[in-house]
Amino acid sequence: MYNYHTHTQFCDGSSQPVRYVEEALRQKMQVLGFSAHAPLSFENEWSLKKADISKYVAEIERLKTSYKGQICILNGLEADYIPGITQKFDTLRKKFRLDYIIGSVHLVKAPEGDALWFIDGAVHNFDNGLAEIFNHNIRRAVTAYYKQIQEMIVTQKPDIIGHIDKIKMNNKGRFFSEDEGWYEQIVTDTLYVASRYNCLLELNTRGVYTGKTDTFFPSPFVLERCLSLGIKVMVNSDAHRPEQLTLKFKNAFDLLKSTGFKNVSILDEMGRKEIPLTAFC
Ligand SMILES: [Zn+2]
Ligand SMILES: [Zn+2]
Repeated sequence: MYNYHTHTQFCDGSSQPVRYVEEALRQKMQVLGFSAHAPLSFENEWSLKKADISKYVAEIERLKTSYKGQICILNGLEADYIPGITQKFDTLRKKFRLDYIIGSVHLVKAPEGDALWFIDGAVHNFDNGLAEIFNHNIRRAVTAYYKQIQEMIVTQKPDIIGHIDKIKMNNKGRFFSEDEGWYEQIVTDTLYVASRYNCLLELNTRGVYTGKTDTFFPSPFVLERCLSLGIKVMVNSDAHRPEQLTLKFKNAFDLLKSTGFKNVSILDEMGRKEIPLTAFC
């Protein structure tokens, strides 16, 4: 088993990195990638503190060396993209010699002004931002979210796109439906950009195992489009606790298989490769 989306005590996870390695060994996983939230320039509850990033990178490198031969450990970050605010992914990549970057949008910048709409976390933040920043205009708000992802792909070239349709989580079917034409169109436009830049897209199981969504990130119709556009997919858990490392993976592999995928993508010391889904289901 393989998981590249892992948060530890260095950011908003529950335990020290070594606890996740022990659990990964117990589960006989082949690769474990760590992806702390990259530091942000403003106060928040979830990301690495600027002063801690070097300690984080050093600790993952130490584990990489001490568990060599038992499991492949990779050093990554989940980096936010907020135009004009976040650091360049390439700067992070080079400075900390990272194995990969998961690029995600958790905060949507208002089309005018500097207000940020926090789409993750509590539902009331989502609702307040929609009202105050976007004047209740869900189509404008969701379009701004996907445009920001498109801009992230083009300008930052993330190795992996994180939970591409996380915007659905706090919507809970209230303001828009995923089968509305405009929504399908903006998602499809975003996938075209992803395919052009040869990004990996993650199937992220966290929404389902936390009970926050009925479907994985991304939804089945998005996976169908990924398949037809030739976008490569990997399975991640976005674990915030060691026991979450591979939660719902069996269901995820079954879904990929029934969608028509033959392979999933993985990363290891040698880089990116594909392995047949038959290895998992
Ligand atoms: Zn995230
Ligand atoms: Zn995450």
